[in-house]
Amino acid sequence: MNGSGTQATGNPSAINAIRYSPVGTMAASETSASPNKARWTSERVLSLLQAASQHGICSYQAAYQHHSSLPTVARRLFGSFAAACHAAGLIGASDARPQYVLCTVPDCGLPTRSSGIPFCEKHYMRVRRHGRTGKHQVPEIYVHSSGYLLAYAPQHPLSQRHSTNREYQHRIVYYDHHGEGPFRCHWCGKPVSWNDMHVDHVNGIKDDNQIANLVAACPKCNTWRDQEKNLLALRAKTGRHITFNGECRCVSEWARLIGITPSALRERPINGWTVERALTTPRSKTGPQSDRAGHR
Ligand SMILES: [Zn+2]
Ligand SMILES: [Zn+2]
Repeated sequence: MNGSGTQATGNPSAINAIRYSPVGTMAASETSASPNKARWTSERVLSLLQAASQHGICSYQAAYQHHSSLPTVARRLFGSFAAACHAAGLIGASDARPQYVLCTVPDCGLPTRSSGIPFCEKHYMRVRRHGRTGKHQVPEIYVHSSGYLLAYAPQHPLSQRHSTNREYQHRIVYYDHHGEGPFRCHWCGKPVSWNDMHVDHVNGIKDDNQIANLVAACPKCNTWRDQEKNLLALRAKTGRHITFNGECRCVSEWARLIGITPSALRERPINGWTVERALTTPRSKTGPQSDRAGHR
């Protein structure tokens, strides 16, 4: 039934490279210089429909996205889009009927939207919206644009504090482990409750939701923690950081701590200082001169 793929391949790039005019002749080709005139044939429609189909059901929308002329041409060549889908073997050839009375989705049994469409209104709209007759599945957990994990937890006490079915996973983990509170801010000790507290990732990794990595933080501490984490991220990005005694700072921060300029600090190893000596020795008369005093 599938025309053995001689007319068109399902190669999306090849299809995207060619644009067809509504009457069905090839209008222009931006990338391919091949003068090969691809005409709309039944075989071509069927193989394109098969390429566009997902999960055995060819939706109008999927076909349109695959090739904007496909639904129109399919209707013209096969009488209706659904009939073309049937011909392509996409909606179970065994119960294929030219006209539909009832929705073809198992256990639905509602009358079809119109005789040329194999779905009832509900299933038709689902196929229109997301290309499947099944209910749209919301993922249990997904990564929010902020980088935190968001969980679907309509029954959780935290979700019920606000009107959505979702809650950040780190808050759920903290709640399930520590309960209703109240708590104290891990950083300043101020009393906090679920109404105002933040759950802070100690190591700064937003999706590391192990309980050992989570602490309660008041809004104020959470703000400076954010800045701290941004600094960490910046250091990791620039790669100009020095780790010493378990502390990771960039050159200018180490320099500020020691009380010298960054360029003076950079000069210390060049002058043969060990890292330990360079990072622990404050400004001294014997050390290398700072930028301001030395080079000018
Ligand atoms: Zn239905
Ligand atoms: Zn605090």
